[in-house]
Amino acid sequence: MNDIQRQWEKCIDFHGHRCKGLLAGFLASAYAMSLVDFDSDTDEDAVCISENDACGIDAIQVVLGCTAGRGSLLFHMTGKTAYSFYGRKSSQNCRIILKGELPDPGRDIEGYCDPGFLSRLFDAGPARIPLPERARIFDTYRCDDCGELAGANWIHIQNGRKLCTDCYDRYDRFHV
Ligand SMILES: [Zn+2]
Ligand SMILES: [Zn+2]
Repeated sequence: MNDIQRQWEKCIDFHGHRCKGLLAGFLASAYAMSLVDFDSDTDEDAVCISENDACGIDAIQVVLGCTAGRGSLLFHMTGKTAYSFYGRKSSQNCRIILKGELPDPGRDIEGYCDPGFLSRLFDAGPARIPLPERARIFDTYRCDDCGELAGANWIHIQNGRKLCTDCYDRYDRFHV
């Protein structure tokens, strides 16, 4: 088994099944690696903004190490099979969008990673969204209603009270 095949098997293990969606993310990652210089020695160097929350992002997590918890897997939901990739150190980026028909995920994975094949399967261009800043740790505040702690970024001020998103929405519904 070669490296590409081994990586693909890892993705299938992580995702739980073999499917075309997973292959889309896998091949987008392979294409991104040929377009963007990622520093594999640096934690959190590769960042992905996915435009969907489908199967493919599991492959991106495995191949490029982008994860939600590290703030390096983010979403800009358009429902398109499109992903933007950023290398923090190299300051390079690309946006890759599926344009062709995905091939059979059970077949020639190595052949699919051929640059010519990838450029027919995807359109690639520069990312449209600027590179997000690194994951930040926000102060926390206690909600004046439910008493639970929430990050400062998620606290809403209403009539001088600090409310968490759930409590704020609840009051907002009664608001005329
Ligand atoms: Zn799947
Ligand atoms: Zn609350």
